[in-house]
Amino acid sequence: MQIPGHIDPVPVPRKPGVVRSDGKRALLGMSKPAMREALVEVGIPEKQAKMRVSQIWNWIYHRGATQFDAFANISKDTRALLDAHFVVGRPEVVTAQVSTDGTRKWLLRFDDGEEAECVFIPDAYRGTLCVSAQVGCTLNCRFCFTGTMKLVRNLTAGEIVGQVMLARDALGEWPNASAPQPPRPVIADDDGDGDDDDDAPWIPGQNQPGSNYTSDGRMLTNIVMMGMGEPLYNFDNVRDALAIVMDGDGLGLSKRRITLSTSGVVPMMARAGTEIGVNLAVSLHAVTKEIRDEIVPINKRYGIEELLAACAAYPGANNARRITFEYVMLKDKNDSDAEARELVRLIRKYDLPAKVNLIPFNPWPGSIYETSLPERVTAFSEIIFAAGISAPVRRPRGRDIMAACGQLKSSSEKITRAELDRRAAEKEAAWV
Ligand code: SAH
Ligand code: SF4
Repeated sequence: MQIPGHIDPVPVPRKPGVVRSDGKRALLGMSKPAMREALVEVGIPEKQAKMRVSQIWNWIYHRGATQFDAFANISKDTRALLDAHFVVGRPEVVTAQVSTDGTRKWLLRFDDGEEAECVFIPDAYRGTLCVSAQVGCTLNCRFCFTGTMKLVRNLTAGEIVGQVMLARDALGEWPNASAPQPPRPVIADDDGDGDDDDDAPWIPGQNQPGSNYTSDGRMLTNIVMMGMGEPLYNFDNVRDALAIVMDGDGLGLSKRRITLSTSGVVPMMARAGTEIGVNLAVSLHAVTKEIRDEIVPINKRYGIEELLAACAAYPGANNARRITFEYVMLKDKNDSDAEARELVRLIRKYDLPAKVNLIPFNPWPGSIYETSLPERVTAFSEIIFAAGISAPVRRPRGRDIMAACGQLKSSSEKITRAELDRRAAEKEAAWV
């Protein structure tokens, strides 16, 4: 969607999507109609194709099968045909790390050798997977490690779904892997607000800490599109991937359990609401043009007022499904009482069903900011709370393995401050 008066170039990824060297196509991430068409193209009879699609989806998404050999209710010949043209597969795990707080991080490698990270954050009542949308990021928020990366490409829908599949593999979450199975239960949204707080009620015997979180025994209960990259600059693939994640024949996760975070790609926000329909989080991080221009440079293109107006119009936002405003706490940069009061004023001005998530800054090698002092974070939070707006402080998770917000980066290159500045200027020139 184009906003009148704007030119809206989408930053062009520096590499196209994946073409496998063996010419095989990935089934993961294909919509049902696309898979049907692909099957017919390789010679599966038209009248069988629909049934084959539902068999394949069942093997892939309900049972976690990764090899065609496992598709027991499909004939050997058909399996061989599938094997000749397609792969199910998973991204390859390059490294798997576990933090002292239980957070897990995987560095994944895709078919063309590009890499991205994915993080699982277990909590008392839920398990959240933080999924990446791009290799690197087209944008360059100044406090974000991912923003310093040079190489960028969009992840395909299959690579995005693949992250969820891989986490399920690692967590042993294919309860229906072998037996004939009942229809998959869709997880209820415990507290109805769809956010990532720990405010879900404890249902004895079902989601108590230390055991499985859901009645069907799954630990992975929530997904946040908050890994590497800007999801709304990879709109189609993110939409197609999340459609599979939410489909009852796919991974069957409720849209209330999924949150997409954007740095503020205003022209895509309405479409995100109507075509994806998940919870929205917005990386606000500052309340004045001067500071937001500096730390979230996309602000030079889509300013604060425009962004908040798009939030007010976000389809599906209401008091039961509030928009989360993310606010990174940077010492002496954006953390004064006056800025907290201005944040309240802005939220009221646009009458937003909002909550604010305060994120203590997570440092990384070469970062130029410091984390706000704890008493500053508390004071900031209290001003917002006093205005009747929820403003919890996000507990940093997985910092020891560089898995916390803004610490993801798949290449280990060491870069100088001058090179960081040069890259920031280059990226900005590409889209401002
Ligand atoms: N690209 C999306 C999703 C990314 S990251 C976006 O920008 O919204 C999820 C959140 O972590 C965002 O709010 C992001 O601004 C924030 N973040 C990035 N770097 C951070 C850091 N070093 N410390 C704390 N939060 C950070
Ligand atoms: Fe990209 Fe988000 Fe990092 Fe900004 S905060 S550079 S949009 S990943």
